[in-house]
Amino acid sequence: AKGDGRRLYRFFTPVLNRRLLEQFHLEQALRIGLERGELVLQYQPRVDITTGKILSMEALARWRHPERGLIPPSQFIPIAESTGLILDLGPIVLREACQQIQRWKAEGVPIVPIAVNLSANELYQEDLTHRIQDIMAASQIDPAHLEFEITESAAMRSIEQAVTILSQLRACGFTLSIDDFGTGYASLSYLNRLPMQAIKIDRSFLTEIGGELNGHSQGAAIVKAIIGLGSNLGIHIIAEGVETQVQRRFLIDHGCNVAQGYLFAWPLTAEEIEPLLRAGR
Ligand code: C2E
Ligand code: CA
Ligand code: CA
Ligand code: CA
Repeated sequence: AKGDGRRLYRFFTPVLNRRLLEQFHLEQALRIGLERGELVLQYQPRVDITTGKILSMEALARWRHPERGLIPPSQFIPIAESTGLILDLGPIVLREACQQIQRWKAEGVPIVPIAVNLSANELYQEDLTHRIQDIMAASQIDPAHLEFEITESAAMRSIEQAVTILSQLRACGFTLSIDDFGTGYASLSYLNRLPMQAIKIDRSFLTEIGGELNGHSQGAAIVKAIIGLGSNLGIHIIAEGVETQVQRRFLIDHGCNVAQGYLFAWPLTAEEIEPLLRAGR
């Protein structure tokens, strides 16, 4: 067996081998990190684009590694998804978001709904609705305070199943939104069947507005089309990744009133966002 291993080893290029090792180490470290409570949440406001008032916020995971510091999700969510660790990570995020709502409620902080990301693997996990309900029951918070974001591509992976699962979640009282919209080729007939209350326009379309490319770019046309779609279907539209006043102006002019982006606020810790909630901003 030892010989076999060595022979197999030869087939890996040094680079591929190093990458696999890194991935393996990261997976082990993440597994341990999750057990040790190293996952923390930041909250990014979604604001009324004209008044700046916080309407809701998205919970975004960060890994507070003891040596490497704060690791962004781009460096561990893909690994969590490919190794199945996401099925441990997801409930940790949901539990923390629920507990945060509970803490704020107890302290009299005016709360707004928190949106939690659900990855494709979680969405199609057996008994998802019951798992979520168990967590909710433990923290006794109103489902109206929680929203789930599902990417368009996750919903499209198995659309019939997605319609069933999302309808169950909707029946529980949760708000649902389609994340990264415009990147996953959802057909309009499916969009109509998904019980969503909001569509989040993917950041990539916004980046084409407000630079040299201005309001005549292809991105601008797509943003306009999605806003029109939203008003026809009676679905709220949230613009993601708004960074400039030009983008903000464009959205106001075309009837999109809710946005999330660095122009308004970065993702903030619970401590940082609390005074903003208290001030009713
Ligand atoms: P996402 O769900 O599309 O989240 C929005 C991302 O855009 C966040 O990146 C946010 O910090 C970033 N962002 C917000 N405003 C701006 C802006 O104005 N400009 C730019 N350039 N970026 C902006 P983040 O926090 O690094 O998260 C990346 C992705 O990781 C998320 O994309 C989501 O797919 C995933 N993720 C994060 N937390 C979780 C989680 O708890 N569960 C799951 N399943 N996925 C998560
Ligand atoms: Ca999201
Ligand atoms: Ca997004
Ligand atoms: Ca994204």
